[in-house]
Amino acid sequence: MKFVSYWHDTAPVFAGAAQGPVSGHYDVAVIGAGFTGLAAARQLAKAGAKVVVLEAERVGFGASGRNGGHLNNGLAHSYLAAKAELGKERAIALYHALDASIDTIEALIAEEGIDCNFRRAGKLKLASKPQHFDALARNFEALNKECDPDTALLSQEDLKSEVGSPFYGAMLSKKSAMMHMGRYVVGLAKAAARHGATIFEGTPVTEHWETNGLHTLKTSRGTITAANVIVATGAYTTKNFTWFRRRIIAVGSFLIATRPLTESEVQAVMPGNRTCVNTMNIGNYWRLAPDNRLIFGGRARFSATSDQRSDSKSGEILRESMERIFPQLKGIDIDYCWGGLVDMTADRYPRAGFHDGLWYAMGYSGHGAQLSTHLGMMVADAILGRADRNPMRDYPWPAVPGHFGKPWFLPLVGMYYKMLDKVQ
Ligand SMILES: Cc1cc2nc3c(=O)[nH]c(=O)nc-3n(C[C@H](O)[C@H](O)[C@H](O)COP(=O)(O)OP(=O)(O)OC[C@H]3O[C@@H](n4cnc5c(N)ncnc54)[C@H](O)[C@@H]3O)c2cc1C
Repeated sequence: MKFVSYWHDTAPVFAGAAQGPVSGHYDVAVIGAGFTGLAAARQLAKAGAKVVVLEAERVGFGASGRNGGHLNNGLAHSYLAAKAELGKERAIALYHALDASIDTIEALIAEEGIDCNFRRAGKLKLASKPQHFDALARNFEALNKECDPDTALLSQEDLKSEVGSPFYGAMLSKKSAMMHMGRYVVGLAKAAARHGATIFEGTPVTEHWETNGLHTLKTSRGTITAANVIVATGAYTTKNFTWFRRRIIAVGSFLIATRPLTESEVQAVMPGNRTCVNTMNIGNYWRLAPDNRLIFGGRARFSATSDQRSDSKSGEILRESMERIFPQLKGIDIDYCWGGLVDMTADRYPRAGFHDGLWYAMGYSGHGAQLSTHLGMMVADAILGRADRNPMRDYPWPAVPGHFGKPWFLPLVGMYYKMLDKVQ
């Protein structure tokens, strides 16, 4: 078994990183080369700005190269929950604004010719218990009528041609998609570089200060100045950006990938070939890879650490969960096991805007694979004078009380959700 992300292992390496010293003056400095930073850099470079991307590790090192590969449309919340919190009009507006993120990716892939197995597969939210199906049906009734007609409610019978496991029904979101995350992030970096952005890898930003509107960024390889700075560091935000660390809760999420399934195994397990998520609070998500491996993920443990030891412990738990859902795969070889940090906010709404001289987009709360490209581009547009396009511009973002960067409270949250899963 390889303790490496399947996406990292099966994508080409980005060969366009700038070499030599890090110096000079830029219109915009972007910190972080995940989807957010690269999408913003591409947008700005296309508009003629002089842009530099400073990445501590390598292109796609963070969550962008480690996720589950699902592009979910809409919100991270159920529509009914968003409506109760925000009011009907605002919930619909936000749903549609964020829904457009998959269209944004589809258009970008076509424009830049990125070969990344993008497919409008549709997403199934699968009811793990009969009472969960009732809740899904209530949410579907309102969502389908008021906001997203591209949804359907599937019965247990309908699911027979979709998933080889006895769920109690599902909601299908037809606009959701999937793609190869490694090929996409490298394609995005190539596109940004082609439009003129300079991308440095192995270049952590260690200090930052602003004097009279001019930013200075000190890195391990030299110092630059910039008129604008975008913080695109998500769950990997370092200690020198305290304001963001008090607002982003970095939560570990983990994945395993089986050996490629045979055609008869695919038919037994995932004949519908969509992205899937179940309704448990400590839930699981899965899909088939382009080479028919089952990529199966979940929170597994409430940990803020992803390293080989932590990933392998989680991998064991994930194997048990996978075999419970798909006994057909009992004992199957697991070829990959990896993990990463998800950028959560306390209310699970993303944030994009401007604070104390710094632009930012982050906090996608498990829906970042598509929101990050979309909101990264919107932050770029805001720098170019179109702040009105950003749907998150008026959302306040208070610090999480008692949180200073290390989410010490995660085990307590885990215990709470375990308890909820027993009673709900
Ligand atoms: C295991 C897992 C599964 C997930 N599954 C899904 C999914 O199926 N669907 C979905 O929609 N979302 C999913 N997500 C979330 C999604 O992947 C992220 O929200 C999204 O990729 C965030 O992109 P980003 O560019 O903002 O941040 P990242 O991709 O995390 O990039 C941040 C970058 O900043 C760099 N950096 C940090 N500090 C510095 C510094 N000081 N100097 C220089 N560079 C720095 C880091 O090295 C990193 O490369 C998942 C996440 C994980 C971890």
